[in-house]
Amino acid sequence: MKTAVIGFPRIGKDRELKFASEKYFKGEISEEELKNVASEIRKENLLEQSKQGITYIPVNDFSFYDNVLDTAVLFNVIPKRYKELGLSELDTYFAMARGYQKDKGNVKALAMKKWFNTNYHYIVPEFEDDTKIKLNDETVIERYKEAVSLDIDAKVNLIGPFTFLKLTKFVGSKTIDDVKEKLVLEYVKLLNDIKAAGGKTVSIDEPYLVRDLDSKDKELFNYLYDIILNSNSGVKVILQTYFGDVRDIYEDLIKLPFAGIGIDFVEGKESLNLIKKYGFPTDKILFAGLVNGKNIWRNNYRKTIDTFEVIKKVLKSDENIVISTSCSLLHVPYTTESETKLQKDYIEHFAFAKEKLVELKEIAALVKLDDFAQKGSKCYKDNQALHASRINSFDKKVKDRVSKIKKSDYERLPKFEEREKIQKEKLDLPLFPTTTIGSFPQTAAVRKNRRDYKNGVISKEQYIKFNKEKIAKCIALQEEIGLDVLVHGEYERNDMVEYFGEHLSGYVFTEKAWVQSYGTRCVKPPIIWGDVSRKESITVEWSKFAKQCTTKKVKGMLTGPVTILNWSFPREDITIKESVLQIALAIRDEVLDLEANGIEIIQIDEAALREKLPLRKSDWYSEYLDFAIPAFRLVHSGVKPETQIHTHMCYSEFTDIIPAIDAMDADVITFEASRSDLQILDSLKENNFKTEVGPGVYDIHSPRVPSVEEIVNALNLMREKLDDNKLWVNPDCGLKTRGDKETKESLINLVLAAKEVRAQD
Ligand code: GLN
Ligand code: ZN
Repeated sequence: MKTAVIGFPRIGKDRELKFASEKYFKGEISEEELKNVASEIRKENLLEQSKQGITYIPVNDFSFYDNVLDTAVLFNVIPKRYKELGLSELDTYFAMARGYQKDKGNVKALAMKKWFNTNYHYIVPEFEDDTKIKLNDETVIERYKEAVSLDIDAKVNLIGPFTFLKLTKFVGSKTIDDVKEKLVLEYVKLLNDIKAAGGKTVSIDEPYLVRDLDSKDKELFNYLYDIILNSNSGVKVILQTYFGDVRDIYEDLIKLPFAGIGIDFVEGKESLNLIKKYGFPTDKILFAGLVNGKNIWRNNYRKTIDTFEVIKKVLKSDENIVISTSCSLLHVPYTTESETKLQKDYIEHFAFAKEKLVELKEIAALVKLDDFAQKGSKCYKDNQALHASRINSFDKKVKDRVSKIKKSDYERLPKFEEREKIQKEKLDLPLFPTTTIGSFPQTAAVRKNRRDYKNGVISKEQYIKFNKEKIAKCIALQEEIGLDVLVHGEYERNDMVEYFGEHLSGYVFTEKAWVQSYGTRCVKPPIIWGDVSRKESITVEWSKFAKQCTTKKVKGMLTGPVTILNWSFPREDITIKESVLQIALAIRDEVLDLEANGIEIIQIDEAALREKLPLRKSDWYSEYLDFAIPAFRLVHSGVKPETQIHTHMCYSEFTDIIPAIDAMDADVITFEASRSDLQILDSLKENNFKTEVGPGVYDIHSPRVPSVEEIVNALNLMREKLDDNKLWVNPDCGLKTRGDKETKESLINLVLAAKEVRAQD
């Protein structure tokens, strides 16, 4: 039984690539040194996979920054402004990825976007009218040969032309139709070169196929692959799909002469139905994505074998089935071996990239055994025993509480309009109230205080004392600046999810389970281990203290349940819906606690709400918003009418889900608007958006101080589209990454601008 891996993490077991790249950016190591680190990582990855006996081992899954950017460079899709810098090949590449601001010029980076439904970000290629597509495949061929030198006959991974064209931004007048022929002919050349170098198999990733496709998309796909597959390059072409099912194009795919097709049976809800309904051709290999490439739980062999059996029945034989990961392992950490602190009872339930290789091997062996031998085999028995033994994972009280949620618990009363009146009276804020998003600059001293406390260098009392001094100063500063609604500054938080996770039961944390988010940036998502509930009050002490420091209104600051869930590794033994409701109840307890302690305004951040919208529009509500929005409502439905609930989102691209955002039923929403064209405001108006809004009036992602005039202009533009009584004045996100000086200057101007606009009437 054969096995396949779609891609392996490339940041290195101890993030070696990250550290080497960062040194290279600072000029501390040479290009050669960086390339040596990279080559060591690639070798280690190849050897590890080969050691585990993986049949189809990928090459060219490595990248110095991002595979989509690699693909752009492979075909010379490099905007002029980067070429004109006259840098080395590698530095031109990094200039596209990160921007360039040194002696040779000043250019911004290309845009970055989320890679489908993951937390990985790709670089958006830009196609200009005079871009000349031209193959430059030395690196790809070199990497193939590198594997050969280790005695590994790898499959060469490529991002396919369909996905590449769909993700590329055409900045001139040209369109996909103008360039598709040239591009696909260069892909054909590439296949010929691979063949000439001795390569036998190419795996072409086309994840875009799991999205909603229209007839034009299908035409484009067929056009491209008609040429590729009829080019007689002599290499076997595998079509690899992932992150969902290919329901819109499956019938076409099975008619095309691919040597194999990779199908995701983990996230692809319709995958089994598709093969059952339309069959699978006997002349092709089915790469069955059965080991989850995105989550960190051990595979349940029983379930996987059952799925395998269904597939085998459809194919009438297992001869042409390959056991594969569901997507690249890029999305999971390297190995559980690096975790030294977490107890074995936890660790043994996790499979990171390296452990998943063993799973592939064991599953491949198990499916070859008859039922009796299977059940008797050690790895099967161990696996089943493991799944039967989850420690401390279930909490009956939490489950009962979720099961007892009533329809009315999702409904805050009285209705918005009535609350709005009550709150205006009670809070007595001026027109265009000014506020911030929560965090204030996290200086080195702030971070040190947290670190020292965590490492036991200082006592809890010392830690608290430091933070309280910071809070008192932060409040005094805000009073001096003249803001209307004050915040405590969030000095206690390393991260808006991890901080809450640490105060909730049901969470576990890793030491080194890093996953690449983009380029050299990695994240370490906490793991939802068991039923989640609030262990203790989380933010109340800080908010209460801040309130004591002032007579002004203080806004409490929380992270919402959808964001907490989306930035964690979720459980697989209960539904996402149940998980988010558990978290919602925990945060609800905190909301009520804050209210009971006199906090009259509470902000519940949902920075990650939009990012898990399903890839297919038809699934947006049924698979996500229909429970995500109610979960948010559950968090705040218990508060008094006069308590004002805010929420915040770090983006304004919610034009297409405005009714859902309004249905969160917050009293105020602040969001990023300073970098967008304020088009969102038209859409809010058209949709009769009821929630009060604070579209950020300046960009906090840069140290630049906005002038009063600029902010006044922004506000006046907003006033053209929004009711004065609904408009708040605030920056567009938290200030934690900013310095003290520019923060103060910017906020002073913000307050002056609000006063000026108030005086206009
Ligand atoms: N309240 C958080 C802060 O101000 C919000 C962060 C975010 O939106 N990402 O930092
Ligand atoms: Zn934000």
